[in-house]
Amino acid sequence: MSDTDCIFCQIIAGEIPTDMVVETETIVAFRDIAPHAPTHVLVVPRQHLADITDLAAAAPDVLAELIDVAQRIADDECDGQFRLIFNTGPRVGQSVFHVHGHVIGGADLGWSPA
Ligand code: 5GP
Ligand code: ZN
Repeated sequence: MSDTDCIFCQIIAGEIPTDMVVETETIVAFRDIAPHAPTHVLVVPRQHLADITDLAAAAPDVLAELIDVAQRIADDECDGQFRLIFNTGPRVGQSVFHVHGHVIGGADLGWSPA
């Protein structure tokens, strides 16, 4: 299941080059093209679903694997500590409507809700 107009489906299909970090049967992870922190990796199910709520409903096992992949990236790059963000809806910043978690870390981030 992929969407030919979706940039992340094109990355998953190998049609757009990217800095790939992890590939499993169900998940890919690649570096964000515009990083906000020393580690900023997008963890993306291969299946085209719009957002985390659709993923949780359709494939909770894949969501659990996505979190495991995020932990592995943080173990490799930032002492196991990470922020995992799923922007869900355009008003809160979602710009690509293929579910992805932003794994952010490698710096003292503090906390800001916005
Ligand atoms: P969103 O705004 O939907 O939460 O996150 C989409 C993210 O995808 C943004 O942080 C943006 O920088 C990243 N992005 C958009 N296009 C590309 C691309 O072609 N390659 C990579 N590696 N990242 C991209
Ligand atoms: Zn897609």
